[in-house]
Amino acid sequence: MDIHIDEDTCIGAGQCALTAPEVFTQDDDGYSTVRPGKEDGGGSALVREAARACPVGAVRVTERVG
Ligand code: SF4
Repeated sequence: MDIHIDEDTCIGAGQCALTAPEVFTQDDDGYSTVRPGKEDGGGSALVREAARACPVGAVRVTERVG
């Protein structure tokens, strides 16, 4: 799994960090970032929930193939 946050789209709503706080956090400006080392989701089942929770669809989750 690869998590990508479109920083141009993110409005800093914080839903991702609320939904999956072990994976997402917010920077000083309130915009979301993936915690270091959690770019692969860290095995969290909440990542997809967080992507759905984002009101502007800024969180993209893709599966690694192979
Ligand atoms: S839920 Fe979406 S808009 Fe809100 S902080 Fe997370 S990525 Fe940004």
